[in-house]
Amino acid sequence: MDYYGSQISALVAQLSGLPGIGSKTALRLAFHIVNMPKERVSALTKAITDAREHVRYCAECGTLTDQELCPICADQKRDHRTIMVVETSRDLAAYERTGKYEGVYHVLQGAISPLLGIGPQDIRLKELLQRLQGDVDEVIIATNSSLEGETTAMYLSKLIKPSGIKVTRIASGVPVGGDLEYIDEVTLLRALDGRTEL
Ligand code: ZN
Repeated sequence: MDYYGSQISALVAQLSGLPGIGSKTALRLAFHIVNMPKERVSALTKAITDAREHVRYCAECGTLTDQELCPICADQKRDHRTIMVVETSRDLAAYERTGKYEGVYHVLQGAISPLLGIGPQDIRLKELLQRLQGDVDEVIIATNSSLEGETTAMYLSKLIKPSGIKVTRIASGVPVGGDLEYIDEVTLLRALDGRTEL
Protein backbone atom coordinates (compact mmCIF):
# COMPACT_ATOMS: atom_id res chain seq x y z
CA MET A 1 0.00 0.00 0.00
CA ASP A 2 1.20 3.50 -0.80
CA TYR A 3 1.08 5.26 2.57
CA TYR A 4 2.86 8.44 1.54
CA GLY A 5 1.56 9.32 -1.90
CA SER A 6 3.17 8.50 -5.21
CA GLN A 7 5.58 11.45 -5.32
CA ILE A 8 7.20 10.60 -1.99
CA SER A 9 7.29 6.96 -3.03
CA ALA A 10 9.04 7.90 -6.28
CA LEU A 11 11.61 9.93 -4.34
CA VAL A 12 12.18 7.05 -1.90
CA ALA A 13 12.61 4.66 -4.83
CA GLN A 14 15.23 6.94 -6.43
CA LEU A 15 17.15 7.41 -3.19
CA SER A 16 17.12 3.75 -2.22
CA GLY A 17 18.71 2.95 -5.58
CA LEU A 18 21.88 4.71 -4.41
CA PRO A 19 24.71 2.66 -2.90
CA GLY A 20 24.63 2.34 0.87
CA ILE A 21 21.10 3.72 1.19
CA GLY A 22 18.59 1.22 2.55
CA SER A 23 14.84 1.74 2.49
CA LYS A 24 14.73 3.27 6.01
CA THR A 25 17.47 5.80 5.22
CA ALA A 26 15.79 6.57 1.90
CA LEU A 27 12.54 7.33 3.68
CA ARG A 28 14.32 9.51 6.25
CA LEU A 29 16.11 11.45 3.48
CA ALA A 30 12.89 11.82 1.50
CA PHE A 31 11.09 13.35 4.48
CA HIS A 32 14.09 15.57 5.13
CA ILE A 33 14.10 16.76 1.50
CA VAL A 34 10.39 17.59 1.36
CA ASN A 35 10.84 19.69 4.50
CA MET A 36 13.89 21.55 3.20
CA PRO A 37 13.56 25.17 1.96
CA LYS A 38 12.88 25.13 -1.80
CA GLU A 39 16.14 27.00 -2.57
CA ARG A 40 18.18 24.31 -0.88
CA VAL A 41 16.41 21.61 -2.83
CA SER A 42 17.13 23.53 -6.05
CA ALA A 43 20.79 23.88 -5.09
CA LEU A 44 20.98 20.13 -4.40
CA THR A 45 19.38 19.11 -7.69
CA LYS A 46 21.55 21.62 -9.58
CA ALA A 47 24.71 20.24 -7.98
CA ILE A 48 23.71 16.71 -8.98
CA THR A 49 22.81 17.71 -12.55
CA ASP A 50 25.96 19.85 -13.00
CA ALA A 51 28.24 17.14 -11.70
CA ARG A 52 26.69 14.54 -13.98
CA GLU A 53 26.78 16.93 -16.93
CA HIS A 54 30.34 18.20 -16.63
CA VAL A 55 32.35 15.52 -14.90
CA ARG A 56 34.47 13.50 -17.29
CA TYR A 57 37.64 11.46 -17.26
CA CYS A 58 41.03 13.18 -17.18
CA ALA A 59 42.66 12.85 -20.61
CA GLU A 60 45.90 11.75 -18.96
CA CYS A 61 45.22 9.62 -15.88
CA GLY A 62 41.54 8.75 -16.34
CA THR A 63 40.32 10.00 -12.98
CA LEU A 64 37.03 11.88 -12.66
CA THR A 65 37.41 15.61 -13.16
CA ASP A 66 35.63 18.55 -14.80
CA GLN A 67 38.63 19.77 -16.81
CA GLU A 68 40.55 18.33 -19.74
CA LEU A 69 43.33 17.48 -17.26
CA CYS A 70 42.71 16.83 -13.57
CA PRO A 71 44.46 19.15 -11.05
CA ILE A 72 47.09 16.48 -10.32
CA CYS A 73 48.08 15.90 -13.96
CA ALA A 74 48.03 19.66 -14.58
CA ASP A 75 50.37 20.30 -11.62
CA GLN A 76 53.91 20.75 -12.92
CA LYS A 77 55.31 20.45 -9.39
CA ARG A 78 54.26 16.80 -9.24
CA ASP A 79 56.72 14.12 -10.28
CA HIS A 80 55.39 13.04 -13.67
CA ARG A 81 58.02 10.30 -13.96
CA THR A 82 56.45 8.26 -11.17
CA ILE A 83 53.04 6.79 -11.96
CA MET A 84 50.93 5.03 -9.36
CA VAL A 85 48.39 2.65 -10.87
CA VAL A 86 45.11 2.39 -8.94
CA GLU A 87 41.77 0.76 -9.69
CA THR A 88 39.40 3.67 -9.06
CA SER A 89 39.22 7.42 -8.50
CA ARG A 90 38.32 6.61 -4.88
CA ASP A 91 41.66 4.83 -4.45
CA LEU A 92 43.41 7.87 -5.88
CA ALA A 93 41.57 10.05 -3.37
CA ALA A 94 42.72 7.77 -0.53
CA TYR A 95 46.39 8.28 -1.48
CA GLU A 96 45.88 12.00 -1.99
CA ARG A 97 44.51 12.27 1.54
CA THR A 98 47.90 11.13 2.87
CA GLY A 99 49.36 14.30 1.34
CA LYS A 100 52.71 12.54 0.98
CA TYR A 101 52.66 11.12 -2.53
CA GLU A 102 54.23 13.45 -5.08
CA GLY A 103 53.94 11.43 -8.24
CA VAL A 104 50.98 11.16 -10.60
CA TYR A 105 48.39 8.41 -11.05
CA HIS A 106 46.82 6.15 -13.60
CA VAL A 107 43.27 5.04 -12.90
CA LEU A 108 42.42 1.69 -14.49
CA GLN A 109 38.66 2.02 -13.90
CA GLY A 110 38.53 -1.57 -12.71
CA ALA A 111 40.61 -4.71 -12.38
CA ILE A 112 41.03 -7.88 -14.38
CA SER A 113 38.53 -10.49 -13.25
CA PRO A 114 38.26 -13.73 -15.22
CA LEU A 115 35.30 -14.67 -13.01
CA LEU A 116 33.32 -11.59 -14.02
CA GLY A 117 34.56 -11.75 -17.59
CA ILE A 118 36.61 -8.54 -17.24
CA GLY A 119 39.72 -8.87 -19.35
CA PRO A 120 42.78 -6.64 -19.88
CA GLN A 121 41.04 -4.93 -22.79
CA ASP A 122 38.19 -3.82 -20.48
CA ILE A 123 40.33 -1.63 -18.23
CA ARG A 124 42.51 1.37 -19.11
CA LEU A 125 45.70 -0.59 -19.86
CA LYS A 126 46.20 0.62 -23.42
CA GLU A 127 46.20 4.19 -22.15
CA LEU A 128 48.79 3.29 -19.52
CA LEU A 129 51.09 1.70 -22.07
CA GLN A 130 50.81 4.84 -24.17
CA ARG A 131 51.89 6.96 -21.23
CA LEU A 132 54.88 4.69 -20.66
CA GLN A 133 56.21 5.70 -24.08
CA GLY A 134 57.18 8.98 -22.43
CA ASP A 135 59.78 9.55 -19.70
CA VAL A 136 58.78 7.31 -16.81
CA ASP A 137 61.11 6.08 -14.05
CA GLU A 138 58.78 3.99 -11.94
CA VAL A 139 55.33 2.44 -12.05
CA ILE A 140 53.91 1.75 -8.60
CA ILE A 141 51.17 -0.86 -8.74
CA ALA A 142 48.65 -0.02 -6.04
CA THR A 143 45.74 -2.21 -7.06
CA ASN A 144 43.77 -3.78 -4.20
CA SER A 145 45.02 -6.95 -2.54
CA SER A 146 41.93 -8.83 -3.69
CA LEU A 147 42.22 -11.68 -6.18
CA GLU A 148 41.35 -9.26 -8.99
CA GLY A 149 43.85 -6.68 -7.78
CA GLU A 150 46.65 -9.25 -7.54
CA THR A 151 45.81 -10.71 -10.96
CA THR A 152 45.95 -7.21 -12.42
CA ALA A 153 49.25 -6.46 -10.66
CA MET A 154 50.84 -9.61 -12.04
CA TYR A 155 49.58 -8.93 -15.53
CA LEU A 156 50.84 -5.34 -15.43
CA SER A 157 54.24 -6.31 -14.14
CA LYS A 158 54.72 -8.86 -16.95
CA LEU A 159 53.59 -6.28 -19.47
CA ILE A 160 55.78 -3.41 -18.29
CA LYS A 161 59.01 -5.07 -17.15
CA PRO A 162 60.39 -5.80 -20.62
CA SER A 163 60.41 -2.03 -21.23
CA GLY A 164 63.05 -1.64 -18.50
CA ILE A 165 60.86 0.69 -16.41
CA LYS A 166 61.07 -0.05 -12.68
CA VAL A 167 57.87 -1.75 -11.49
CA THR A 168 57.02 -1.85 -7.79
CA ARG A 169 54.09 -3.19 -5.79
CA ILE A 170 52.82 -1.57 -2.60
CA ALA A 171 53.54 -3.68 0.47
CA SER A 172 50.96 -6.03 1.80
CA GLY A 173 49.74 -4.87 5.16
CA VAL A 174 46.84 -3.52 3.28
CA PRO A 175 44.19 -6.04 4.43
CA VAL A 176 43.35 -8.71 1.89
CA GLY A 177 40.34 -7.76 -0.17
CA GLY A 178 40.35 -4.38 1.53
CA ASP A 179 39.15 -1.43 -0.45
CA LEU A 180 41.96 1.13 -0.42
CA GLU A 181 39.35 3.77 0.22
CA TYR A 182 38.66 2.51 3.73
CA ILE A 183 42.24 2.06 4.85
CA ASP A 184 43.72 4.68 7.15
CA GLU A 185 46.44 7.00 5.93
CA VAL A 186 49.21 5.60 8.13
CA THR A 187 48.64 2.09 6.72
CA LEU A 188 48.58 3.46 3.18
CA LEU A 189 51.84 5.34 3.69
CA ARG A 190 53.46 2.26 5.20
CA ALA A 191 52.32 0.23 2.19
CA LEU A 192 53.75 2.84 -0.16
CA ASP A 193 57.08 3.20 1.67
CA GLY A 194 57.43 -0.56 1.93
CA ARG A 195 56.85 -1.18 -1.78
CA THR A 196 59.05 -3.80 -3.38
CA GLU A 197 60.35 -4.17 -6.87
CA LEU A 198 58.62 -6.83 -8.95
ZN1 ZN B 1 44.75 13.29 -14.37
